[in-house]
Amino acid sequence: MKLIYDARFQDSRYATDNAAMPGRMEAALSGLLPGPWDVVAPVPATVEQLLLAHDEGYVQGVTGDAPRFAMASLAAGGAILAGRLAHGGEPAFACVRPPGHHASRMGAWGHCTFSNLALALLVLRAEGRIQSAFILDIDAHTGDGTRDVLVHWPRAEVFNPFAATPAEYLELVAARLAGLAETDIIAVSAGFDAYRLDVGHKLDTPDFRRLGELAREAARRLCRGRRFAVLEGGYYLPDLGANVRAFCEGFAG
Ligand SMILES: [Zn+2]
Repeated sequence: MKLIYDARFQDSRYATDNAAMPGRMEAALSGLLPGPWDVVAPVPATVEQLLLAHDEGYVQGVTGDAPRFAMASLAAGGAILAGRLAHGGEPAFACVRPPGHHASRMGAWGHCTFSNLALALLVLRAEGRIQSAFILDIDAHTGDGTRDVLVHWPRAEVFNPFAATPAEYLELVAARLAGLAETDIIAVSAGFDAYRLDVGHKLDTPDFRRLGELAREAARRLCRGRRFAVLEGGYYLPDLGANVRAFCEGFAG
């Protein structure tokens, strides 16, 4: 598996929200490195690529905030790279910020700027590489931006599981993936704020490993293993690295 990362993501000055908090990327990375994956640096998404997912006026507005645009276009580029690697047969995890699943075509909230994961899928579709996609969003919050950006693509399905207990949550994800008949790729919005000590107050570290495994098993069954994941939320820094690591170990296999 490839780990998409760039030291520039450690610069917390692009925003003042929780996703931009100092030390957050270092915390995530502390669980991943050293690790059994090759680190690959992304290049920023181009404006032309960003316009696959976003309204021109919105993108132009973000360009007026140079530090934010630089970070967000790099994050989007990281997701695009992850998608391309995954399509080529190499699973990938994009450890990027700002997150993207609350970024819609016309705007964004919830610490997001560009719809990283949806954009990566739209790039693959525009290049003729995929016709369908299944998105598993394990963040504590609904990926409303992803849904908005993909609304006119009926063969892109977004699944946000909700359940009362960790066991029910895992069962729900397993059942949904088992019921999936076909997809060209599986993409995971990998938020870690559903952790029991984070805002979602639910999942434990081994649950993230199991979620990674479930996505990997489904990708192997359905689409020659094609899968990638993009970091979304996750704010409990003491355990963020362990949770990201657990997910990636399950996801990489
Ligand atoms: Zn969240």
